[in-house]
Amino acid sequence: MAHDPNNQHPNGPPLSKPLGKPMQNIYPAQQPPAAPPWGAPPPPPLPKPVGGSRLTPTGPGPVPIQPPVPLWRSMPPTGPGQQLGGYVVAGTNVKPVPYTPPRETPTIVIQGLYSHFEKTGFTLSIPDLRIYPGELTYIGGPSGSGKSTLIRMLALETEIERGQLHILDRNVGALSAHARDDLRGGGITYIPQKGLGLIDILTPVECIRRLLYDFEGIPLDEGARRAEVGLTKARLLRERFEATIKTLSGGEWARVAIGKAYAAERPICLSDEILPALDEESRINTVDLFQDLAAEGYTVVVIAHQPNLMDRFHRVILLENGHIKSDLRYSPLVRGPAQQP
Ligand code: ADP
Ligand code: MG
Repeated sequence: MAHDPNNQHPNGPPLSKPLGKPMQNIYPAQQPPAAPPWGAPPPPPLPKPVGGSRLTPTGPGPVPIQPPVPLWRSMPPTGPGQQLGGYVVAGTNVKPVPYTPPRETPTIVIQGLYSHFEKTGFTLSIPDLRIYPGELTYIGGPSGSGKSTLIRMLALETEIERGQLHILDRNVGALSAHARDDLRGGGITYIPQKGLGLIDILTPVECIRRLLYDFEGIPLDEGARRAEVGLTKARLLRERFEATIKTLSGGEWARVAIGKAYAAERPICLSDEILPALDEESRINTVDLFQDLAAEGYTVVVIAHQPNLMDRFHRVILLENGHIKSDLRYSPLVRGPAQQP
């Protein structure tokens, strides 16, 4: 895979970022769901942090968050489509159709979202948006249309001024800062544009096991095992597992970030424009990996600026001036019986 010399990766931010001030509690508290949205048996509780992690709960334990499970059956390829990661992904001749949601409980629900920046006069306004498990969603639109503002809200990095955001059936506005942290730590992998959230002086395995230890208290040897499983699923060459991240190519950085998503087993994976820094082959490979992740039941949202790759996604949402301009289905999601062993 070619290395893109323009792909400068500055040091990733530290994994343990200081928290912003707690969100204002403007919504009535919601009961946790009786069953996880994907209808699987109740999950085991998240491992308890050890060693005085800042996420150690002080009150009753957090509501457990279910790792993703596969939801969809594989389909044979039809027409110009090709089968990738258990899905039929449209070929370039496939015409998108108006979006129709699957019969699932969404993992992300936005209602009446409104956010205004005084300084720049920019307003993000999204009356209604639901995003589903197993779906690979592309969010595009011109520079300045609000893509990063939206994804940072979904990643619980910024507060919501007005409206409601539900993540994994939790009403984010009703959560304490602590519960919001637990939701982020158990529910969301956020791959930011800058440095992809990786620490470039560490190795891929070390980076991931440190994340698992810091945020979930997972013992380091178990963390290393999960890191190896995740990196293998993300198809990073084994000989790179112990290389320093800053020596890896752009495409390999993306594999580490996606390996981290697998290892952390958080049901939602959000990424902000990680494709533009890559060469075309690495971009396609990275989208293939996102397809695999979605096929495992993860909710995958990718901000991108690559119209030629839209047809590799299930759903394409385009923003314009802080509004949703279009929301289209590019390739089908077909619910079916469990896969044959
Ligand atoms: P995109 O990711 O689609 O390029 P952004 O979401 O980064 O767009 O930004 C959308 C608009 O919001 C831009 O006009 C930007 O200047 C403005 N903006 C983003 N963040 C802030 C902020 N913290 N304060 C004021 N304006 C902001
Ligand atoms: Mg942006």
